[in-house]
Amino acid sequence: MLENKSLKGKTALITGSTSGIGLASAHVLAEQGINLVLHGLMNNEEGENLAQEFAQKYQIKTLFDNANLMDSDAISTFMTKALKTMGTIDILINNAGIQHTQAVDTFPESKWNAIIAINLTAAFHTIQHSLAGMKGNAWGRIINIASVHGLVASKNKAAYCAAKHGIVGLTKVVALECAEDGITANAICPGWVDTPLINDQISEISEKDNSSFEQAKYQLITAKQPLPEMMDPRQIGEFILFLCSDSARSITGSSLPMDGAWTAQ
Ligand code: NAD
Repeated sequence: MLENKSLKGKTALITGSTSGIGLASAHVLAEQGINLVLHGLMNNEEGENLAQEFAQKYQIKTLFDNANLMDSDAISTFMTKALKTMGTIDILINNAGIQHTQAVDTFPESKWNAIIAINLTAAFHTIQHSLAGMKGNAWGRIINIASVHGLVASKNKAAYCAAKHGIVGLTKVVALECAEDGITANAICPGWVDTPLINDQISEISEKDNSSFEQAKYQLITAKQPLPEMMDPRQIGEFILFLCSDSARSITGSSLPMDGAWTAQ
């Protein structure tokens, strides 16, 4: 990957960057000298340590916050603090997400509400807080981590599919409204990525079939995804970096599959 000199010194806020795709993407952006607001469900001490590790390793400015994205007041406090401390949020990556799989007729309302709040409504709030600054700088990148489930459905994923289809729609509206402001908004729609988010689904197969974790993992991947391997979360980070580059300034309002041909079928 070429060094993106123009991105050095910009600030990215990544929700859910204490784990998986968010954490790997944070490393990719930090390698380019991009300052970071790290966020996720981690206690303050662990979070501060993580932020300090990033600051020292990459010589960047960092901030950590553990706002619960189910709570709109907490999001508001978090975003106000981030903007005040960092001065600006140039790159907003709405990545935090949870999953619960169950048939729609028995799907618990509490899980529905949590998935819609964290995977969809939180992005509405963070975007609202970020736009004034981006418009003021006439530059911004909003990248929403959706899923193939923002484009197609699978059984037992009612809330997840509703939230991910929702964030694809939100992305398009933001792109239209910001098209003349130097701000792009895109959704990345990954297939299987090797992170803790999918462990429950693998364990369920492994228990049902009395197979090993690795066998169950392979079965989960190949049930729908023609490319028979999980993505490394860093691959998403590299794609995010490209979307932040000047070369990608005309890519906006897009829902971009990164899915091993899953949605080609
Ligand atoms: P992960 O479980 O490794 O990370 C999730 C992150 O979200 C963590 O940092 C966690 O602390 C944070 N989070 C969860 N609930 C939160 C809450 N209430 N408040 C604040 N933060 C909260 O998962 P991941 O696989 O890295 O997922 C990241 C995104 O990628 C999600 O939106 C997910 O839907 C999407 N995605 C993942 C895959 C996959 O196969 N792993 C595929 C497609 C899309």
